[in-house]
Amino acid sequence: ANREELPEFSGNGQLSDGHHVPLLANVGSGVDAQLAAAAGAEGVGLLRTEFCFLGKDKEPTREEQVEAYGAVFAAFGGRKVVVRTLDAGADKPLPFLTDASEPNPALGVRGYRTTLASPGVLERQLEAIAQAASEHQAEVWVMAPMISIPSEAQQFAQLAKAAGLATAGTMIEVPSAAMLSGQILQRCDFVSIGTNDLTQYTMAADRQLGALAELNDPWQPAVLHMVAATAAGAKAAGGKPVGVCGEAAADPALAVVLVGLGVSTLSMNKRALAPVAAVLRTVDLATAQRLAQLALDAESAEAARSAVRAQLGELD
Ligand code: PEP
Ligand code: MG
Repeated sequence: ANREELPEFSGNGQLSDGHHVPLLANVGSGVDAQLAAAAGAEGVGLLRTEFCFLGKDKEPTREEQVEAYGAVFAAFGGRKVVVRTLDAGADKPLPFLTDASEPNPALGVRGYRTTLASPGVLERQLEAIAQAASEHQAEVWVMAPMISIPSEAQQFAQLAKAAGLATAGTMIEVPSAAMLSGQILQRCDFVSIGTNDLTQYTMAADRQLGALAELNDPWQPAVLHMVAATAAGAKAAGGKPVGVCGEAAADPALAVVLVGLGVSTLSMNKRALAPVAAVLRTVDLATAQRLAQLALDAESAEAARSAVRAQLGELD
């Protein structure tokens, strides 16, 4: 992919009434970060750190990690980068960390849960992130994947702060976490909704099975209710930031709905930045909220999608 192929993006996500919605990029390597910065992303909303671990038979050294994360921070020159700590297991197995013989890996020891079985890996990663952040004077937020209960958020925030990282949050990917987002946010600084996994777990439909694609659709009204509950919890916790970093944020009509549900930032593949920005500019916040309500009230994913798209079409 080169820079010329990407559609134009002004670098500023906002609604027609000026309401600012930072549009951030999902990034999976240093080179990817350079392309995302060139495409105008306001920062990184999800750095998937697995790129530093996958294909290795042992834990990368601190130096290797500092260099890998530093390349991403350098590409964004001081702008915000949300670093997700290692999300091994299920669709991202790691020989030295996860157990390939688990009967049901998506429900197994994955994401934050691997820290219980392998203490130290997360602490060392957080220290490497902190070192790279200070070397590059980057604004780094860290977040943990696959958090299920508030006490995990508390433990993670303590570990992050012990490593010298000031801003710690969690992903919301599990329905239990969506339901208790207010309690989670009493224990950390922000949340970011991973709609890929949140959809899989809400619908009990394996995200890797094409045969279940109809269930595995973030337009499913039940998934949107999970997003609404997460945003309500964030509001109750004093208005802490709630982002979306799953594929849902890259669908322009769905991005409008997410903003209407109370999401404050959207993070996506760099290719989606321009199309999402273009549609956001056509609506004000009250309209986004009205469309979000339409989608919540729909009886199916298809009905939600077509109702919202029809209304957006009329707004053009
Ligand atoms: C998600 O689950 O939505 C997410 C962003 O994480 P990943 O796709 O890496 O599981
Ligand atoms: Mg996920």
